[in-house]
Amino acid sequence: MGVSPGFRTHRHRKAGVNALRLIGFIFVKGLLSLMAAMEKIVSLCKRRGFLFQSSEIYGGLQGFWDYGPLGVELKRNLKDAWWRDMCSGHNEMVQPAGAPSTFDMVGLDSTIIMHPQIWKCSGHYDMFHDYMVDCRESKKRYRHDQVRGRWVSHPDATAAAKIFVTTMAEADEEQAEIQHRALKYFKLRPKDAESLVYDGPSTTLDTVDEFSIVLGPDAKTLGTLTEPREFNLMFKTTIGALGGEEDYAFLRPETAQGIFVNFKNVLDSSRISVPFGIAQVGKSFRNEITPRNFTFRSREFEQMEIEFFCHPNSSQDWYRYWRDRRLAWYQTLGLSRESLLMREHAAEELAHYSVGTADIEYAFPFLPKGEYGELEGIAHRGDFDLRSHMEGKLDPSTRPMVVELDELGKPRHRGSGRDLTYRDDITGERFTPHVIEPSAGADRGALAFLCEAYHEDEAPDENGKLQTRVVMKLHPRLAPIKAAVFPLVKKDGMPELAQEIYAELKRDLAVFYDEKGAVGRRYRRQDEAGTPYCITVDTESLTTKTVTIRDRDTLEQTRVKIDELAAELKRRISS
Ligand code: ATP
Repeated sequence: MGVSPGFRTHRHRKAGVNALRLIGFIFVKGLLSLMAAMEKIVSLCKRRGFLFQSSEIYGGLQGFWDYGPLGVELKRNLKDAWWRDMCSGHNEMVQPAGAPSTFDMVGLDSTIIMHPQIWKCSGHYDMFHDYMVDCRESKKRYRHDQVRGRWVSHPDATAAAKIFVTTMAEADEEQAEIQHRALKYFKLRPKDAESLVYDGPSTTLDTVDEFSIVLGPDAKTLGTLTEPREFNLMFKTTIGALGGEEDYAFLRPETAQGIFVNFKNVLDSSRISVPFGIAQVGKSFRNEITPRNFTFRSREFEQMEIEFFCHPNSSQDWYRYWRDRRLAWYQTLGLSRESLLMREHAAEELAHYSVGTADIEYAFPFLPKGEYGELEGIAHRGDFDLRSHMEGKLDPSTRPMVVELDELGKPRHRGSGRDLTYRDDITGERFTPHVIEPSAGADRGALAFLCEAYHEDEAPDENGKLQTRVVMKLHPRLAPIKAAVFPLVKKDGMPELAQEIYAELKRDLAVFYDEKGAVGRRYRRQDEAGTPYCITVDTESLTTKTVTIRDRDTLEQTRVKIDELAAELKRRISS
């Protein structure tokens, strides 16, 4: 959800166990244990070159990730699919199903570093924070809402009767770690575990008011955690050689503001009219206190955002349209409905200016059972952004909102003073458009598709014996390699013909050539890479000018004419 400074303090763990959803998820994953599945995915990502830890040879840098040869293709395919489906492929003359009317879509690529005033008017400067707690004993820093724990007591305890024992352990180790720490604190042995008395299930530290009876995640004594303090998540940098305080700037924490400040430029330079959307894909940076869960929470990541400008009267309809359309999009690319959740924010969770916000969430395997992680936020932002950049940062406590003033009665953060209103040529009405913002993360998206794609099943090897195989069932549009070309054996002219086919296909498809080792093993490697089709040149190919196409998911092999191969592959990929 782009700006959403007001939302940052509401990072909640998505509770609400949905047993059916969970059963569906487990079933899809072939009854793999959730965490074991995640470990396997992480290991495959490294082994096959999807993802590497940034700066690994120097020990790594927390919260930063590099995409390897397969990963870069996957993420690029995801961004391309988004761009094509949302922006470049949009036909402004056709009213899509569910849309209140026809509309225009255009793109933008704005800079990462922008005028610092932008972040003051957007609210990020004052409000884009997380709460964190420091441990006086371990000197470690934690995000307030990410520390989890349980209330525990022991009948024989002489000191504090009931304490809150915390941990930063992953979901599957959480209870074991809490028990271990509680036993240690109460000076008990493992065999006494039964005598510990728990009060309620595990919960986050932000539900606890009394810090003196909290056992910090890495502390031995009680009450070592400080009260939560605010921490601004924007990375600061300086412009130019002198680098004085007046030269500071920020790396953008979202791409959205680049769109708002270009609203007038885009409008004046394109023949578009409200309603229309501006799409942008690009890097964003947030100095997250505790980056975790693989790429899910990174400090450098990519966003795919749309700011959709519409008339205030139809904004609720547009909000619903975008919310539903974005949920459907994830499904068309292969995420199952059972592992997705559309979560409408409750009124108290909404930012001050927001009329409605929904998160599209995914059942990532690293989350506790029944919990979901945000993939994308769709927010109805009213006229907050355009007005803030015109008039100055608005005061969230006022209704209707007016510019926030300082002690001298002047605007706290001055706006651009530019007119960002819109005049409807037909009706003559002038108004400040309302904004609907579907804001997705490319890295979280890529991770969700990787998690969904991971399967283990059985396939026959070259001797017909069933073997366990790891297969990444990525949608063909997302698959890094669309097809692999193999000569069955490295002789009798098969490599030559296979190389000819490879060269021909390579002109407009990401294809891979492999002639090393047994063909079964070559199939297996492509299954792991998520390649949907393997093309094999065999003895028959030389005489009949045909090849076989093996389907990764069904294992079905069909024979097609070499002349028709490219068209057949394209048909399969786009269907
Ligand atoms: P969260 O509550 O998980 O921090 P958010 O609500 O702050 O997310 P938004 O400001 O709505 O996130 O950003 C839009 C999208 O950008 C998110 O839905 C997510 O896909 C992506 N995103 C945000 N922060 C990160 C991050 N630290 N790492 C990777 N992707 C992110």
